[in-house]
Amino acid sequence: MVHSLWTARSFHAEPHLAVVGGGLVGLFGALHYKRRHPHHHVLVLEAGAFPDGASVRNAGFACFGSPGELLSDIAGEGEDAALARVQERWLGLGELRRELGDGPIGFDPCGGYELFRDHAPLYTSVLEGFDRLNQLLGPVFGEHPYRVVDKGSSELAGMHVGAAIHTHLEGSVDSGALIHSLLRKVQGEGVLYRGGAQVVRMTETPGGMELGLADGTVIVAGQVLLATNGYTKDLRPDLDVWPARGQVLLTAPVEGPLPKGTFHLDEGYYYFRNWNGGILLGGGRHLDKTGETTLEEGTSPVIQQALETLLREVILPDRAFTIERRWSGVMGFGRQGKEPLVERLGDRIVTAVRLSGMGVAIGPRVARRAVELLG
Ligand SMILES: Cc1cc2nc3c(=O)[nH]c(=O)nc-3n(C[C@H](O)[C@H](O)[C@H](O)COP(=O)(O)OP(=O)(O)OC[C@H]3O[C@@H](n4cnc5c(N)ncnc54)[C@H](O)[C@@H]3O)c2cc1C
Repeated sequence: MVHSLWTARSFHAEPHLAVVGGGLVGLFGALHYKRRHPHHHVLVLEAGAFPDGASVRNAGFACFGSPGELLSDIAGEGEDAALARVQERWLGLGELRRELGDGPIGFDPCGGYELFRDHAPLYTSVLEGFDRLNQLLGPVFGEHPYRVVDKGSSELAGMHVGAAIHTHLEGSVDSGALIHSLLRKVQGEGVLYRGGAQVVRMTETPGGMELGLADGTVIVAGQVLLATNGYTKDLRPDLDVWPARGQVLLTAPVEGPLPKGTFHLDEGYYYFRNWNGGILLGGGRHLDKTGETTLEEGTSPVIQQALETLLREVILPDRAFTIERRWSGVMGFGRQGKEPLVERLGDRIVTAVRLSGMGVAIGPRVARRAVELLG
């Protein structure tokens, strides 16, 4: 196709930076880069018509980690690494809120709970490490973040659980509104966003990074920021980034009061919150890790049934509910550890992937680090 003078200049000029993947990380990457280089042409290439990855398919928890998760991280990788990540999550959430504003992202400071079933051995071990954890985290938050909630507390009314630990510092967001508002901001600052642009080939040449799109278009960019997270295997099978599908369901509004907050259960393998009078519940990936190492969108009976059982037995015991919607999203994990992969892969390409299911919190800062590498 021959472009007019105007489309050639305004839409098809060779970008200084092409961002592959238009989710939270790609959009923040484009924003940070454009602010450093206001006169550079920045183009975001997104496979979906709109952002279509985990950023718009998640549960919308603005969280920094439950005690069970953090104690397990400390046991696995030591205090320094685990605490550094909590700090990144906390700072990232602050950046997100400051950049976009609490209203536009639907931030609700509803607090977060880790729930424990009756007589759960995990509760005993969390209680053993509880004081130490609060002490370690004190300097990050300026206060001890966690408190114990006993079984009989009204905060747990209606649920069938043994005990809980609460922090008032966590909250929830409206993930769709968040990405919509970020997209508006990025475009408002002069970044060009191209939906329906699936990159199928990337080749580094002396003249630039050649990006082949599924529709046959070839774009030559000065540099590339690869922000495809769970989808990275398609373009770079050599990297240690593996897809991990997460499934979610949403009930129709349920009669009567609902638990208020964001909730984690069974070491974070299940998580739920209330949404518009219903329960949004996700997780269960541990029941079929092999099957869920997939890029395929969809749900599976084994996991959906486990989620429904949890609703019936723990979250909404003795209450009627119907399921209104089910969906899935793909996260990116490494084989070992939870560190994001922010690396220069060549003279013209940097990657910001492997968000390990924490991208809402760490995404803005991962993107910032990648932009620093781009120079
Ligand atoms: C079910 C679920 C629940 C979650 N809950 C939470 C939570 O409560 N709190 C939290 O912090 N995190 C949560 N996460 C994780 C969080 O959503 C992710 O870490 C974060 O959204 C990652 O952002 P991203 O921009 O790196 O990836 P994505 O949002 O996946 O963006 C990657 C984009 O790249 C595009 N793309 C892929 N391949 C190509 C290609 N070849 N060419 C062009 N574009 C391409 C995709 O369409 C996609 O839009 C959850 C994730 C899931 C799936």
